[in-house]
Amino acid sequence: MIQVVAYKIISTCTACGLCLPECPIDAIVAGDSIYVIDRDNCCDFEDCLAVCPVNAIVPSDNADAHAPALSPATSGRMIE
Ligand code: SF4
Ligand code: SF4
Repeated sequence: MIQVVAYKIISTCTACGLCLPECPIDAIVAGDSIYVIDRDNCCDFEDCLAVCPVNAIVPSDNADAHAPALSPATSGRMIE
């Protein structure tokens, strides 16, 4: 079983777009004012994190939809 951490983009995002081409599965899209990660598709890699100049990409607080018993520090979803 593999733990997968989903990420989210917080309000400090400046919509610079640098992260968009970094995601190998196109889980990042341009939202109304900030960019958004499709949590259901985000499956780690973390390629996007390194390029964000304002550290706006963080582990999702709500990433426990598939593993509700996990704490925020280990939040993620489990896949087999
Ligand atoms: S963590 Fe990985 S899968 Fe998720 S948005 Fe970033 S690059 Fe894409
Ligand atoms: S790199 Fe960071 S600031 Fe730029 S669009 Fe992505 S999340 Fe927003």
